[in-house]
Amino acid sequence: MDYDVVVIGGGHAGTEAAALSARRGARTLLLTQNLDTIGQMSCNPAIGGIAKGTLVREVDALGGVMGRATDRACIQFRMLNRSKGPAVWSPRAQCDRSLYRRAVRQLLETRPNLDFRQDTVDGVLVSDYRVHGVTTRAGAIYHTRAVVLTAGTFLNGRIHQGLAVATPAGRAGDPPALEIADALRRAGLRAGRFKTGTPPRIDGRTVDLYRLRIQEGDSDPFWFSFFERAPRPAQRPCYLTSTDAVLSQIIQHHLGESALYGGAISGRGPRYCPSIEDKIVKFPHAERHQVFLEPEGTDTSEMYVNGLSTSLPPNVQLEFLRSIAGLEQVKMTRAGYAIEYDYFPPEQLKPTLETKVLAGLYLAGQVNGTTGYEEAAGQGAIAGLNAAGSALGEEEVVLPRDQAYIGVLADDLVNRGVDEPYRLFTSRSEYRLLLRQDNALRRMYPLARRLGLLSTEEQRIAERRLEVEEEILRYCADTSIGPQLANPVLIAKESAPIHHSVLLADLARRPEVSLTEMLSVLEFAHLPEEADWASIELKYAGYLARERSSADRLRQSEEFLLPQGLDYLDLHSLSFEARQKLQAAQPTSLGQAGRIPGVSPSDLHNLVVEVLKLRRQSRNVSRETV
Ligand code: FAD
Repeated sequence: MDYDVVVIGGGHAGTEAAALSARRGARTLLLTQNLDTIGQMSCNPAIGGIAKGTLVREVDALGGVMGRATDRACIQFRMLNRSKGPAVWSPRAQCDRSLYRRAVRQLLETRPNLDFRQDTVDGVLVSDYRVHGVTTRAGAIYHTRAVVLTAGTFLNGRIHQGLAVATPAGRAGDPPALEIADALRRAGLRAGRFKTGTPPRIDGRTVDLYRLRIQEGDSDPFWFSFFERAPRPAQRPCYLTSTDAVLSQIIQHHLGESALYGGAISGRGPRYCPSIEDKIVKFPHAERHQVFLEPEGTDTSEMYVNGLSTSLPPNVQLEFLRSIAGLEQVKMTRAGYAIEYDYFPPEQLKPTLETKVLAGLYLAGQVNGTTGYEEAAGQGAIAGLNAAGSALGEEEVVLPRDQAYIGVLADDLVNRGVDEPYRLFTSRSEYRLLLRQDNALRRMYPLARRLGLLSTEEQRIAERRLEVEEEILRYCADTSIGPQLANPVLIAKESAPIHHSVLLADLARRPEVSLTEMLSVLEFAHLPEEADWASIELKYAGYLARERSSADRLRQSEEFLLPQGLDYLDLHSLSFEARQKLQAAQPTSLGQAGRIPGVSPSDLHNLVVEVLKLRRQSRNVSRETV
């Protein structure tokens, strides 16, 4: 046997799969088309965001590389959702694209048990429905116990710019993977076709930046990684502008030339990353669409034009770019494009992400019908851990939905399948208060420790950090603060003053009170990040308990019957996607509703609440009538 595990592909799924397979102790080979594109961001140079940022921290806590690479490449950091409760705060980093790639490569090269090889896999060796090797275009054969396929958008990939240009490619500049997709089809895997798109890039030197709104990052330091305090590269701002009626007219005029609208692309695209053509067609009355100009790095003036993904011909792209305020003289460096590619519907997988038809073959990332770097990384982590576990004869890893977004993601994929590229949101989870970015280490550490995924030093750091948080919680539970010290802070926050000593833990539960401010008046000068973690635990203690019991109720309501002819579009507590899908399907029971792709467990929870409300209303009406 050459290797315990072979990982195909060096994107965001493949790098985590390789990192964690090696960390689990499996002799691992990362086989990828081009070693220089390991960790390449195909689209937006940013990591994290709503729910995704939490997932990055989960992967980091398991010993993955995405969090550290993001910290090393971060040129702007923002904590999203800060205006909402800290339970939904979402870290997001703008990254230097080439620094990120280099950081991923460096981090992987420090892993023992991990070899690299540049080649294209064109087939798998199978006997008795079990994979035992891969073959490559260069004629090599690698024998292995398990294979993780993470080929991204490369499987029969085809990129489109307008109707005239349709080029076989995995993404711009990279060839597609043709043979492996067909080999897996022949082996019994069913494939589908999805599409996605990317916006043009521009030369920042040709933008009138002074006319645009500047968006700086947060000044508070934040690191995705629980284990490393990487120095930050020079920070860069983003800029905001918007489209107007002229751009809408240009798009309308050229709509027939769009690959998306001219009929050149058949697959379905991600609803949440619509192209500018989509936005203009679906929202014809919107006066403007926001456009973010995001720096591609510290050593380049190239910018990513977030919000203008397109499949129109390059000359039309330049025309509409120049209609935007501040971009009148802009030079386009790379045209946007759409890509269509094969994916394997993920109902064909077990919860470990092993295929049901071929033992030893695991799939992760875009090939499972997802979209996004973080979604790919989370699946890569699970697939890599399980491939290594199966090769070494060790335990399977399936994360429950209330333990990790990684668990929500894998569970959604294998049980519900996808009918459009799947993206993670907090609303996908019914336990979103339990699954926070700040407590990812606490949630993941027991598993990371049991499987031996962390170095001795990382383990020491993890244990110390969790211990510090517990010490703070104990201190708050045991320490009272008197009116003299507490009241100035309370009054400043418009919180009721106290008249006798009160436990810190009790004061910290008040929504307007900050535990860290209370601790500061007790002369704790430099509070660690763990104080924020403790503060959130205290503030949300009641909600967390309620979330657990509502989850129990949800489980009991599997047999819950739904009224026929219900107008789901009117149920605004459900996501828009769920309302549309339920309206079309008109399920008879909650169980059936739960099996409809796009209806999340939190939608189900809200549906129960709505139906109970309707039942109460109709009982009241019939009583009044009597
Ligand atoms: P990738 O990052 O695509 O990596 C695949 C890797 O596999 C590559 O290294 C490739 O070289 C290698 N490979 C493929 N086949 C073989 C083979 N046979 N042998 C050896 N190596 C192989 N995501 C969003 O969240 N929002 C967006 O708006 C968005 N837009 C996108 C637009 C475009 C044009 C593209 C291409 C992608 C876009 N994405 C977007 C998706 C995002 O890039 C992916 O979700 C993410 O990169 C998936 O990670 P992955 O590891 O599954 O695959």
